[in-house]
Amino acid sequence: MAGKTVVILGGGWGGLAAAHHLRSLLAPEHRIVVVERNATFTLCVSYLWLMTGDRSGLGAISRDMAALKREGIEWVHAEALAIDPDTRSVETSTGTLAADYIVIALGAQLAPDTVPGFEKAALNFYEPQGAIDLRHALENFEGGAVIVLVAGAPFRCPAAPYEAAMLIEGGLRARGVRDLTSVAMYTPEGQPMAVAGPAVGEALVEMLTDRDIAYHPLHSVTEIDPDARVIRFGDDAVPYDVVAGVPPHRAPPLLTAAGLTDATGYVPVHPQTLQILADPDTLEIAHERVYAIGDVASIRLLNSMLLPKAGVFAEGEAQVVAAAIAADIDGSPRPAGYKGDGFCYIEVGDGLAAYGSGDFYAYPGPRVRLEPPSLDYRKAKEEFEALLDTWFER
Ligand SMILES: Cc1cc2nc3c(=O)[nH]c(=O)nc-3n(C[C@H](O)[C@H](O)[C@H](O)COP(=O)(O)OP(=O)(O)OC[C@H]3O[C@@H](n4cnc5c(N)ncnc54)[C@H](O)[C@@H]3O)c2cc1C
Repeated sequence: MAGKTVVILGGGWGGLAAAHHLRSLLAPEHRIVVVERNATFTLCVSYLWLMTGDRSGLGAISRDMAALKREGIEWVHAEALAIDPDTRSVETSTGTLAADYIVIALGAQLAPDTVPGFEKAALNFYEPQGAIDLRHALENFEGGAVIVLVAGAPFRCPAAPYEAAMLIEGGLRARGVRDLTSVAMYTPEGQPMAVAGPAVGEALVEMLTDRDIAYHPLHSVTEIDPDARVIRFGDDAVPYDVVAGVPPHRAPPLLTAAGLTDATGYVPVHPQTLQILADPDTLEIAHERVYAIGDVASIRLLNSMLLPKAGVFAEGEAQVVAAAIAADIDGSPRPAGYKGDGFCYIEVGDGLAAYGSGDFYAYPGPRVRLEPPSLDYRKAKEEFEALLDTWFER
C-alpha cells in the first residue's frame, strides 16, 4: 500500500493530540504533517497561574515545536493560507501540501480589535503576556474597581473568566486590599456555563456572591473608553480601574473563505465522526476525509446549544479522528464515534477547585455534575501540564 499523508492544520492542543495518537496507530510509511505558525507551544490552562504568580514565566508552560517528541511527526513551520477541501490541498506560506486526509485544528482566534478601546484598556489574560501584565497590575493595586469583562461569546474554556474573578478576589484579599476594592464581572452570557444547565450556573453565581463579586449577565460591551476610564454597554457606563478582559473570538478567516463555516461562525461537524457537514440539520457529510476538531468545530447539542470550546473536548475528538483515519487507511471497520464526555476544574481561590463533569451529548441536554471545591481538585488541575512532557522532549 502506498503511504498516505495526513495533514493536520494547527499544532495546538487538538492538533498535537491528533498527531501523537495517529503516530501510534499508523505504520511509518504514512506521513503525519503538522502545519503550525508558532515556533512555541504554550499551554493555555496555565495562563491563570501566570496571572496569580503560581507560574513565574512562559518558560514553565511552553515548549519549542522543534522538540516534538515522537519521531515521524513532521512540523511545517508555516501559516496555512488557504484550503481546498474538495482536492484536499492546503496552501501555506512555505508551499502547497497535498493530503489524503486533513484534520483542521486551527482553534479560535482572539479578536480584541473588534471592541473599540479593548486593546488599549483591557489586560487580556487569554494571552500569556496579558496574564503577566494583569499580575503586575494587581500586585501594585491599592484599591478601586476591578472588572472581569467577557467581551463576546462563545469563548474558550467557559469556566476561565469565572475562575479569574475568584482568583483575583482571593489575591486581593490575601494582599489586604480587598476592603478597598470592588470586584465585578460583566458578560453577554445569560448565566455562567449555560450549556451545563441552570443548577451549575446557580452554583457558580452563589460562589461569586459568597465572595462579594457582583455578577452582571446579559451585558454586551460596546466600547471601552480609556480616557474616561469607563466600559460602555450601550447607554450604561461602568467606571473601572483595572479591566481583566476576555476578547471576542472568531474562526480563522481562511476557513470562512473556504466556505467551511456556518451561521455559528465555526465549522459544523458531525457529532460522532467530526467530519465536516454540508448540512447540520440532516448531518449530511460534505467532505469524507476532512475533519475539524477542537475550538474551530461547531457541534450542536440536543438542547440546541453548542459544545463548549475546551481542550478536553479537543483531545477526545482528536483520539476519535486519529482512530477513524487509521482504520480507513488500514481497511478496518470504523471505530466508535465521539461520545461528548467532558470535565473541568473550576478554581475558586484559596488553593481550591471545584470539579464539573458530565455527558454533553445526553438528551434532552448535557448532564453535568458539580463537585464542591477541594484541595485535591486544584492539585489535579496541574496534571494538564503533563501534556507538555507527553508531546515534547525536555
Ligand atoms: C485562560 C485559559 C484557560 C483554559 N483552561 C482550560 C482548562 O482548564 N481545560 C480545558 O479543557 N481547556 C482550557 N482552555 C481551553 C483550551 O486551551 C482550548 O480549548 C484548546 O487549546 C483548544 O485546542 P485547539 O487545538 O482547538 O486550538 P488551539 O490549542 O488554540 O490550537 C490552534 C493552533 O492553530 C494555530 N493556527 C491558527 N491559525 C493558523 C494558521 N493560519 N496557520 C498555522 N497555524 C495556525 C495556532 O497558532 C494554534 O497553535 C483554556 C483556555 C484559556 C485561554
